[in-house]
Amino acid sequence: MTDFSAFKIDVNLIGGEWRSPAADSAITVTNPASGEVLGTVPNFGSAETREAIDAAHAAFPDFAASDLNTRVGLLRKLHDALMDNQEALAALLTAEQGKPLAESRGEIAIGAAYVMWFAEEVRRTKGEIVPSPVNGRRLLVTHHPVGVVGAITPWNFPSSMLARKLGPALAVGCTTVVKPASLTPYSALAWGKLAEDVGYPAGVVNVVTGSARAIGGTIMEDSRVRKVTFTGSTEVGKELIRQSADTVKKVSMELGGNAPFIVFDDADLDRAVAGAMIAKYRNSGQTCVCANRIYVQSGIYDAFVKRLSEATDALKVGPGNEAGVEQGPLVDQGAFDKVKELVDDAMAHGATCTAGGGGHALGGTWFQPTVLTGVTTDMKIASEEIFGPVSAIFKFETEEEVVSAANDTDFGLAAYVYTTDLARAFRMNTGLQYGLIGINEGLITTVEAPFGGMKESGLGKEGGSQGIADYLDTKYVCIGGI
Ligand code: NAP
Repeated sequence: MTDFSAFKIDVNLIGGEWRSPAADSAITVTNPASGEVLGTVPNFGSAETREAIDAAHAAFPDFAASDLNTRVGLLRKLHDALMDNQEALAALLTAEQGKPLAESRGEIAIGAAYVMWFAEEVRRTKGEIVPSPVNGRRLLVTHHPVGVVGAITPWNFPSSMLARKLGPALAVGCTTVVKPASLTPYSALAWGKLAEDVGYPAGVVNVVTGSARAIGGTIMEDSRVRKVTFTGSTEVGKELIRQSADTVKKVSMELGGNAPFIVFDDADLDRAVAGAMIAKYRNSGQTCVCANRIYVQSGIYDAFVKRLSEATDALKVGPGNEAGVEQGPLVDQGAFDKVKELVDDAMAHGATCTAGGGGHALGGTWFQPTVLTGVTTDMKIASEEIFGPVSAIFKFETEEEVVSAANDTDFGLAAYVYTTDLARAFRMNTGLQYGLIGINEGLITTVEAPFGGMKESGLGKEGGSQGIADYLDTKYVCIGGI
């Protein structure tokens, strides 16, 4: 196991200083695979958050005015620092989150790729010269960094979710106050160290751990914070949107999902099964874009269920740092209990289990990769985000029926469709009310494309050219008397 001690930082970064908590005020971080205590981080609150905002506010004018080349250079160094330390950062991520090491390596790599993407994309944040309706005037549109950005991140992708926020913020010249999830704070603190190591000025990146309500509340009420970018549950996202009203902040919200995964009779079966495996079981089912409701047309239903059940049974379950492991534990007991409740409810209402079905023999928070068939809309699993390794399969007959069922949710993040009918693929693009659609692909996230949901899955986009626009204010200037 790679030594990650250099990045397991148990203090917070505020205004360029590493700050310790009072002796009795700490959050314990646990390895979900072993139950072993990894360490503690500060349990800070409003006072320290205000200091972090003070520091970010003070650092903003100089950083915003720095040369574009300077900011691009820093991002390139940050990218290289991430990749040079990929093994240690991945080992730390697996230790605090539980995902297999191969997935952690991938998460560090895509985080670095986001940083590099925004280093490139910031050069293209062009303004406009708009034709004037009358002579003697020039009408210009220019873009400017919004100011201090508050970034609140979840535990399921503690490194790459931060990359999508720090990347564009630092590219355009914003300064930041980061609040990571309490279950997985070390990956974010490692970003603080890397930012300091590569030469970001004091106050540009601040990382505060502790009470979500106190830190979040302080960020939301402070009028100097001009934008808040949040990834997490829809419930908390709605609360933050409400809180943002008092100071009229910009908000970007990457919230929950309830992804339909639709397999038509004309699908390539091998491809559909491979796509379902990745869309369902990555990070043990704990991703916002995980296939939540698998709809299979009646003609291919039996073959698909058989193949998916065999592939699910074959998944290697174990500690994420063991070679070949494909499924780690769920992040904590609460996550395990929620998944078990959904499976038990489905079984009680008539679902059939064709793989797994409950807690794994390893004990702890390991859940068996599971397949449930005959799932119907009266089961809780049909409407709630599962966030666990459970494939819930519905049978359908017609295209109209499945589009209507797929859209019958308040969420609108990701959807997947398997079909070899080109016209149908285009109809799905139009008909499905989702921000991300994979057609014959189960893993579609890429730095070049805008990631984000519709309906109650969120506001704004991360990645692509759209992912930088939310960190910019637009000004129109009219120059007269020419
Ligand atoms: P969560 O409970 O909403 O927590 C997310 C973050 O918000 C954590 O840092 C948490 O801090 C903080 N938080 C909690 N209550 C808060 C409050 N009142 N004010 C301010 N901050 C608060 O979500 P989670 O369980 O960590 O993450 C899972 C959810 O995230 C799922 O619904 C998933 O779909 C969604 N997600 C969405 C995307 C996307 O791109 N759309 C990506 C990944 C995950 P503490 O940890 O200290 O409580």
